[in-house]
Amino acid sequence: MTASVLLDRAAIENHVRRLGRAIARDHPDGVLLVGVLKGALIFLADLARAIPTVRVDIDFMSISRFAPDSGRVRILQDLGSDIGGRDVVLVEDIVDTGLTLAYLVTQLSARGPRHLATCALLDRPSRRIVPQPVDYVGFELGSEYVLGYGLHVRDLYRNVPYVVAADRDTLVTRPDAYVDDLYRRPDSVREPGGRVNFVPAEEP
Ligand code: 5GP
Repeated sequence: MTASVLLDRAAIENHVRRLGRAIARDHPDGVLLVGVLKGALIFLADLARAIPTVRVDIDFMSISRFAPDSGRVRILQDLGSDIGGRDVVLVEDIVDTGLTLAYLVTQLSARGPRHLATCALLDRPSRRIVPQPVDYVGFELGSEYVLGYGLHVRDLYRNVPYVVAADRDTLVTRPDAYVDDLYRRPDSVREPGGRVNFVPAEEP
């Protein structure tokens, strides 16, 4: 099974710049970016720097999912700030079924922000279970399962600086299948230049 670069650094930068401009335009009084840890950390760090023209405050919440696709989310660490009366953008790495985002939007809306918007680097609308809209979307995915730029499997690959499409079934049985190529042979990554194929580690 191979993995391939779906978004290289230049593509990510373009999407982040576009989203930053849109968020700045829509929030002339400043904005509080709320990142969902850990996946949104890297995206949010870049996004904040792509909003240079208005005041940006940053906060995070950490969550865990009870079971995939269950929509049941536990808040492990809540926000440090009161969002009452604030203009908030909730920042996610990827929206898939929409269950996580829908839960968080309900939670945060109840705290009385002046306005609450949602932003995701990646959106996979074909998998939606709840009709949760995303106001600012970087890139629309098909069925590809992705890693890198904050996205992980068992906490691996978050620091890969691009978004890679990988084989989900391979990762279920071997979460570290792509470690060799993505970490140990970075020379095989040609950027910029679009798609580059990787061959994951062989079965031991
Ligand atoms: P949702 O509640 O929208 O189904 O789930 C969103 C969460 O599922 C993301 O924050 C992420 O943790 C996980 N997820 C969904 N699709 C992918 C994917 O393609 N790759 C990875 N690494 N995680 C994903």
